[in-house]
Amino acid sequence: MDNILGTTGLILNEPLLWEKGSRGRSGFSLPSRDVEVCPIEDALASNGLDFPDLSEVDVVRHFTRLSTWNFGVDTGTYPLGSCTMKYNPKINEKQAALPGFSAAHPLLPQELCQGLLRFMFDLERFLAEITGMDAVTLQPAAGAQGELTGMLLIHAFHKSRGRKPSKILVPDTAHGTNPASAALCGYRPIAVESNERGILTVENVAKSMDEDTAGIMITNPNTLGLFEENLSEIVDLVHARGGLVYGDGANMNAVLGIMDVGRAGLDMLHLNLHKTFSTPHGGGGPGAGPVCVKKHLEPFLPVPRLMEQDGHYALSYNFPQTIGRLHAFYGNVGVMIRAYSYIRTMGAANLKKASQLAVLNANYVKERLKKSFSLPYDRPCMHECVFTDKYQAGCKVTTLDIAKRLMDYGFHPPTVYFPLVVNGAIMIEPTETESKQDLDLFIESLAAVAEEAKENPDLLHQAPTKPKMRRLDETRAARKPCLTG
Ligand SMILES: *Cc1c(COP(=O)(O)O)cnc(C)c1O
Repeated sequence: MDNILGTTGLILNEPLLWEKGSRGRSGFSLPSRDVEVCPIEDALASNGLDFPDLSEVDVVRHFTRLSTWNFGVDTGTYPLGSCTMKYNPKINEKQAALPGFSAAHPLLPQELCQGLLRFMFDLERFLAEITGMDAVTLQPAAGAQGELTGMLLIHAFHKSRGRKPSKILVPDTAHGTNPASAALCGYRPIAVESNERGILTVENVAKSMDEDTAGIMITNPNTLGLFEENLSEIVDLVHARGGLVYGDGANMNAVLGIMDVGRAGLDMLHLNLHKTFSTPHGGGGPGAGPVCVKKHLEPFLPVPRLMEQDGHYALSYNFPQTIGRLHAFYGNVGVMIRAYSYIRTMGAANLKKASQLAVLNANYVKERLKKSFSLPYDRPCMHECVFTDKYQAGCKVTTLDIAKRLMDYGFHPPTVYFPLVVNGAIMIEPTETESKQDLDLFIESLAAVAEEAKENPDLLHQAPTKPKMRRLDETRAARKPCLTG
């Protein structure tokens, strides 16, 4: 392989601002004063504050250098399975930054922000149409908070019928947030085993679905990137035994315009706007996990709810059965604007095309790499595929070594050791925004790493050798974080 992206390049070290600059430097020059001197520095020093003296160029270089240590989807391919790290078009950023949106104070009187309320109302309608559901709340700030909202809705629904079941079924392939959200709401999560094909079976769900079970959380496509083929029968069974079906729609990027969640019988579903609908994520920034529900759950949705009458938009609190408020004000509005802009610029046909390409790309990666890496579920996948390090076991090379070595080739590693049902999982989600050239380079790099594992396993044990930071002691980094560089 001579076409390697990774290089040691000009990666510069950078000290803390406190270790830079020198006394008397300044980032500005002002006309000479015509007022009395106020010894602000002494005042600051006596408060224990200690600001370094820096010039403009010190500050600009400091932050620009730090930014070059980062890797994002704007830098290169970011095939992190289950995270949908696709490229987010800049037009959506631009819309969210329009002063009419970004400078609107959340306490503005409703008459003065009709435009904002209208676009949020329209976004709710778009998301209802995309999912085939009846009503939507935009409030939850993340997928996990959407799940919590769903659990509260399930609880409120059963309570309104005088029932108080205590368990929720969660497949063994679920994202860790699923059992955590159920537990946070006071439910006991019960694991349901997936079968040898990586999906749920009616029999396994039936075994646990009893009178004391409030419902089931189903991720579709699941976190193995596989479509839950028995979904309809499972939904019927759960409903017949008095339970509700919660859909984890974080993987909606695989089925936009293809799967009608409402027709599939799900009672509710959360979406991750920051995954599927164009908000940069991964750094802990704001997200949005709207929850879409069927009619019978609408009375319990969080307040305030957006209402429209004769072209006038208003927030209403008048829902006596509501589970209450989930977020300050109306949720993370900036994320909603990006999603709205993304949906409007794409249109229905292109949203569907995006999902088709996401699935095509994942299958392309799967087929081309299955000679190099063991593929536990060798069947058509949806938006992501899962390999393991089984073929490399003989050379004492693990998933972690493979992921670290890939960094030397200039790629962000895939998700590793998840989902937990697969030993040594390497989970790749290429997304629809990677070109064939970039995918080929990624595939060739991973195939080259598999060859290196056979011929020179030490290379992998020492990897990464090119990035600024070498292999970290991840346990110590988590237990004893050093935040001063
Ligand atoms: C990302 C993800 C979540 C959690 O979403 P957050 O926004 O990170 O809270 C839940 N379920 C699945 C399947 C996911 O991929």
